[in-house]
Amino acid sequence: MPDTQPVFRFAPSPNGLLHLGHALSAVLNHDTAKAAGGKFLLRIEDIDKTRCRPEFETAIFEDLHWLGLNWEQPVRRQSEHLDAYATALARLDGMGIVYPAAMSRGEIKAAVAKAEAVGRSWPRDPDGSPLYPGQERESSARERADLIESGRAYAWRLDMQKAIGLLGDAPLTWIESGAGPSGEDGIIVADPAAWGDVILSRSDAPSSYHLSVTVDDALQGITHVVRGRDLYHATSVHRLLQSLLGLPEPLYHHHRLVLGTDGRKLSKSNQDTGIAAFRSAGHSPEDVRALIV
Ligand code: GLU
Repeated sequence: MPDTQPVFRFAPSPNGLLHLGHALSAVLNHDTAKAAGGKFLLRIEDIDKTRCRPEFETAIFEDLHWLGLNWEQPVRRQSEHLDAYATALARLDGMGIVYPAAMSRGEIKAAVAKAEAVGRSWPRDPDGSPLYPGQERESSARERADLIESGRAYAWRLDMQKAIGLLGDAPLTWIESGAGPSGEDGIIVADPAAWGDVILSRSDAPSSYHLSVTVDDALQGITHVVRGRDLYHATSVHRLLQSLLGLPEPLYHHHRLVLGTDGRKLSKSNQDTGIAAFRSAGHSPEDVRALIV
């Protein structure tokens, strides 16, 4: 096979049972890869040890096998590759664009509530969470060293403005063959600034989703990222990290979300739409395919 062979991946987190939305993502990746004579990889995104459980990983394999999918071996498990994410973080640190920050989610919320109580509006990221206020961006080398030595929990954040400042003059873009929330496709201009100073790792969780997904897509030679539209805006951060770390740019396809009968996005806690629930109710894999494609 030539080395231009397309490589697709399905990258679930084992923090719950797979539902119809995951089935759509997995089937789309698998079928498109096969049709293109490419490879289909399965990656287990299990960095968050507080939420991921081995029984959910077993259920992922069972559900995907039942759907009739097969994938390359070995399966990459992110928790087994923490050194790769630490190396990427160290490179960004060497560029002077990361800093340790101790402000917790609760403290950020409180600061936002205080500002909003006096009529100030607070910027939100594309997922609706308030942006980190950024105080610790200005802390001195001494203050940073003291925080790291203190034993307090902290996160490594990306100094977004500094990071963007390192990009060249050409706009940061990606090629989208699916559709964004308002139907966007074609060449999309990334807007990483909308996310503020994103977290890249925490003292208690060695890598964030953004950092590990970007590193792994490159390490595994992923040429096509096919995933749900809920991750469309996250692509801006991934493109920024790719550019900073000199990693290749995959093509992107964000597919529609499978919605519940109430019109809302499916969640892993809603067992009715779980692939396993369809299986135990006597449905066939073809029935499930017919519901999603
Ligand atoms: N692990 C992510 C999830 O469970 C998906 C990552 C991706 O496809 O980029 O939603």
